[in-house]
Amino acid sequence: MATLQELANLIFPDIKETVEDLEKKYPKRDLPEGAEVTRFAPSPTGFLHTGSLFTAMVTQKVAKQSGGVFFIRLEDTDTKREIQGSGKELLDQMKVFGVVNDEGYFGDHEEGKYGPYIQSKRADIYKVVIKHLLENGRAYPCFCSRDDLDALRKEQEANKVTPGYYGDYAICRKLSLEEQIENIKNGKPYVIRFKSNGNHENKVRVTDLVRGDLELSQNDQDIVIYKSDGLPTYHFAHLVDDHFMRTTVVSRGEEWLPSLPIHLELFETMGWTAPRYAHLPVIMKMDNGTRRKLSKRKDNEAACSFFLQDGYPVYAFKQYLFTIANSNFEEWQIENKDLTLDDFKFSFSKMSLDGALFDIDKLKYFSKELLGKYKGPEMKDFVKEWAKEYNEELYSLILRDEDYFAQIMNIEKDKENPRKDYEKCSDILEKVKFFYDEYYLEKMNEELPWNPSMDKEVIKDVLNDFASTLNYEIPEQDWFNNLKVLGTRHNFAENNKIYKKNKELYLGHVGDVAEMVRIALTSSKQSPNIYYVLNILKEDKIKERIAVAISKL
Ligand code: GLU
Repeated sequence: MATLQELANLIFPDIKETVEDLEKKYPKRDLPEGAEVTRFAPSPTGFLHTGSLFTAMVTQKVAKQSGGVFFIRLEDTDTKREIQGSGKELLDQMKVFGVVNDEGYFGDHEEGKYGPYIQSKRADIYKVVIKHLLENGRAYPCFCSRDDLDALRKEQEANKVTPGYYGDYAICRKLSLEEQIENIKNGKPYVIRFKSNGNHENKVRVTDLVRGDLELSQNDQDIVIYKSDGLPTYHFAHLVDDHFMRTTVVSRGEEWLPSLPIHLELFETMGWTAPRYAHLPVIMKMDNGTRRKLSKRKDNEAACSFFLQDGYPVYAFKQYLFTIANSNFEEWQIENKDLTLDDFKFSFSKMSLDGALFDIDKLKYFSKELLGKYKGPEMKDFVKEWAKEYNEELYSLILRDEDYFAQIMNIEKDKENPRKDYEKCSDILEKVKFFYDEYYLEKMNEELPWNPSMDKEVIKDVLNDFASTLNYEIPEQDWFNNLKVLGTRHNFAENNKIYKKNKELYLGHVGDVAEMVRIALTSSKQSPNIYYVLNILKEDKIKERIAVAISKL
């Protein structure tokens, strides 16, 4: 009579370790009560998705705020989907976003006592547990070919029953031990399946940290746990890894919620306590009035790198992701302007349930607020670092005279209510170009936006007067009063109100005068406050530019 032990030894002759050995090797972590062990478990399949960063950030936060451990495990058992080198790239990007793990896989090395943290290096650990299940009759080899499984699916479709490998449909479950052993000895290819004891009619109660109490149907599928390439499937690797890495909270995308009954049955079968689970919402986007998932193919915002390229500050992006993570975050941040993300107490229960909606305007808000706080030199450093990587043209302008650029970035920043002009670095070059002569001169050769109803001679007179009475090293209000006086010399009213009352008496009002100066100095009707522009350009340049403008009239 063949025995289960014989079958297990035949399949894994070299595996001598036992589950008990592994329990000793990876003991319970010595952490204070309430400290959570969390993990982020990316697959090396390409770039860092915004949704993955979101998950990683939340996962890190939960460990950090509880004084626990956050580790990273590389899930590379799906060799077909793997993109070489992308694991390291992913970790590098996460570092840029400040999501750095305490333990585990670091891109170029691993650290920690619960490793290896790369699944392909854990093959023997999985085999120990699979051997244990084989010995206990809770796993079996399955010899069904792709054709067999196709035929099975068709039969199930015809009979209108749930598809899958279960119950009576689990053909190989019915093979005798002798048949199984003989097939293996004959070199028949196989996978190993879990033998489920569940019944789809029964319910399991689970508590999801985000969704609360749920009732799901029990698992009854004999899922594949070990593939013919010698590696486990996701479900089985999750069981083994999160048990032996002593994870306390598994936070992962909600796409895994339907497989939760499988995972719970696996834990129960092993007699292990399952971790607590948090299934995080998928990030959605509004598209023509309908909600849909952020898509890798269609949406730039699906890749975190997009926000870096555009030059949003990382911190603002993280604040933004926290508004998705917790509905009370935005209010909290507004009420506690001086506190940081680290001070915020995250809670799974305040997460939105029905898919988090991506709202770029909110990101812009946080970004403007943050950049609004940066004074010139800080802003210069921030923009310079960005430009170095993403905008050569701007970078070389900054390097030409860093102090000059810092002054530009400081416009109206020393006021009580500093201006919030910029939402991202990629907007800056366009807005500040005119400070640099080559751009200014180029624009001055184009059609200029002078007020068409204004006599060119009047503009010339105003500009000449402006240049010869130039005085900008005085307080802003005094400067503006002088401009009004200048205007009245040329028959412009002091303000719009006076002008409107007696239009026939004036050529216009002080705003028109300011516009002439603005166009002359910046080539455009839109620019930062002209008083500050003057104080950056300074006398020689101002006079040069006024002369250029007059020559174009
Ligand atoms: N490797 C899985 C994924 O990328 C991880 C899911 C999990 O965190 O358990 O979706």
